[in-house]
Amino acid sequence: MTVQTDTFEFKTEAKQLLDLMIHSVYSHKEIFLRELISNASDALDKIKFEALTKDQLRQYTQDQHIRIESDTKNNTLTVHDNGIGMSREDLVQFIGTIAKSGTKEYLKALRENQGKPSIPDLIGQFGVGFYSSFMVADKVEIVSRKATEEKAWKWESKGDGTYSIAESERAEPGTSVTLQLKKIEEEENAQDFTTEWVLRDLIKKYSDFVAYPIRMKVEKRDYERDSDGKIKEGVEPKISFQDDVLNSMKAIWTRPEKDVTETEYKEFYKHISHDWTDPLKWIVYKAEGVSTGDFKGLLYLPSKAGSDLFFSDLAKGIQLYIKRVFIMHDCKELIPEYLRFVKGVVDSDELSLNISREILQQNKQIQNIKKSVSRKVLSVIKTMKQDEPEKFKTFWKEFGPVIKEGTFKEPDDRERILETTVFATTHSSTELYTLDQYIERMKTSQETIYFITGETRHTIETSPLLESFKEKGYEVLLLTDPVDEVWVNFVFDYKGKKFQSIAKGTVELGSDEEKKKAEEDRKQKEAGYKSLLECIKGKLDENIKEVRLSSRLTSSPACLVSDRNDMTPQMEALLKATGKDVPRTKRILEINPSHPIIVKLQSVFEKNSNDPMIEDYGNLLFGQALIAEGGKLADPAIFNKKLNDLMMKALIL
Ligand code: ADP
Repeated sequence: MTVQTDTFEFKTEAKQLLDLMIHSVYSHKEIFLRELISNASDALDKIKFEALTKDQLRQYTQDQHIRIESDTKNNTLTVHDNGIGMSREDLVQFIGTIAKSGTKEYLKALRENQGKPSIPDLIGQFGVGFYSSFMVADKVEIVSRKATEEKAWKWESKGDGTYSIAESERAEPGTSVTLQLKKIEEEENAQDFTTEWVLRDLIKKYSDFVAYPIRMKVEKRDYERDSDGKIKEGVEPKISFQDDVLNSMKAIWTRPEKDVTETEYKEFYKHISHDWTDPLKWIVYKAEGVSTGDFKGLLYLPSKAGSDLFFSDLAKGIQLYIKRVFIMHDCKELIPEYLRFVKGVVDSDELSLNISREILQQNKQIQNIKKSVSRKVLSVIKTMKQDEPEKFKTFWKEFGPVIKEGTFKEPDDRERILETTVFATTHSSTELYTLDQYIERMKTSQETIYFITGETRHTIETSPLLESFKEKGYEVLLLTDPVDEVWVNFVFDYKGKKFQSIAKGTVELGSDEEKKKAEEDRKQKEAGYKSLLECIKGKLDENIKEVRLSSRLTSSPACLVSDRNDMTPQMEALLKATGKDVPRTKRILEINPSHPIIVKLQSVFEKNSNDPMIEDYGNLLFGQALIAEGGKLADPAIFNKKLNDLMMKALIL
């Protein structure tokens, strides 16, 4: 029978990556073994999880292990596993393409760092999975059989842009990856990956905690000894082969913290998260309680946000173990969504081993563990803020926007989240402050926490809306994360202080007396300006629902605000971006009665209420106000024409 072999091309990104691997000068090529073992361990986890609900798979979970086989003569190294295996489609999809976000980031970083000496380091930082094999191999062969299928497949590539797939045979489900290693003489200081001690060292270093035995056949020499126990000279030892387990398999989270080294914690993080940057922090955690049952946790805060934040399919999340037995990856029931960047393990002593996803969702104990885990993480973050402010700054930059989602997704955690959240404010151009710090600085007569939202700090900081706040020394929170637009619609107060957008409704600053006086002043002025305001409103009717006098402005002639219960334009844009059909909300144009332009406009209007200047100026004021808040003009050409006409007039005069 002839076996049909199909040849495929790698996808562009995979090709680029392979090319880099083949020509890599990276000095830690040894990491390829950690990647292969990590994939094998994941495959074993997967079949174990599937077997919980599929009886026919249970037979394959009796002796789960990884086997390393080296052949010095032929210079090959094989990593076998009896895990879930891959079908033909899986081989094409998972091995022929790069779906992994980390790899994409890696390629991007490489491009950005082109020519810089740090390039090789990036390999270690990102981890490039299976492809790293090509750093040490001329040819890679995978033979795999998926647990639910009878057929096995052989995938083969020299990393030269193509790979082939042909039918093959394998007695048991699982995967064997065989590397035809590069010749050692070709490289300086190259390690021989077929040597027992090299492999032992590498496995100890990177994969000691892997939960399945990593076996290898090793040579044992039995020497004949005399009655004193001394080796008899001149007698050849008896050589036999036996299986050795090269890893301790110790669940790192069950060991006392003082016995575990930093390197071990870091390596374990890399193993479970597939993020090859060191974690920012880890939390070793033990809880005993009626509501949660006894459980142990080892949780990690990453140092960088990965794309798994936005693509939940890529998330590694929290692994659930029950009594040291692995149950599942990325158990979303154990952690609220706003902490989805947290990675690690939760090992419960009390849940039943044959728990299913459906049961998980309703299980009270799981819900309580989730609560306990989120409290723990939040309290660690809070302590980090106090004790390690620099570390906290890095952390907040990466994950702050995600944590803020919790204020509306988990109202129970709202207060705790707000306690830790830090904000940019008008008080400093560099520092971030907590709400408590803001409240401490509030003026005696101030009852509300003022904020403004917008796209960038620069646009909102120069917004006319801030003018009177700056002048009167009122601090304002400057909110520029897209999530800020959302939470401000759900969170109304903090420790009894109301939040108030300075871009909505009317704003009066000062003591009660001052406010009253300002209000009266404005009313009086409004009476004088009433007709002008109505006239401008009539001209701008399409865009504006009201024109009124402002108490927020000191130096600008006009600004745009929203009604108290209306959507801000940023929120409108955000909803539109998610495909929602949102009706356009008309804004309010506020004008500054003390500004010379407005004063003059009033006298023009008094002379001739039909003067075309009123409409032109109305439009220009509206356009200016829109630009000032970073908005887009509906018709920039018309705006420019009006502006040019005006400039022309000024020159003629
Ligand atoms: P990663 O493991 O980080 O996702 P890899 O490039 O190492 O990236 O692997 C790509 C995919 O190939 C894996 O996600 C997995 O689906 C599949 N795979 C790799 N090795 C194995 C294996 N030994 N058994 C089953 N599937 C595997």
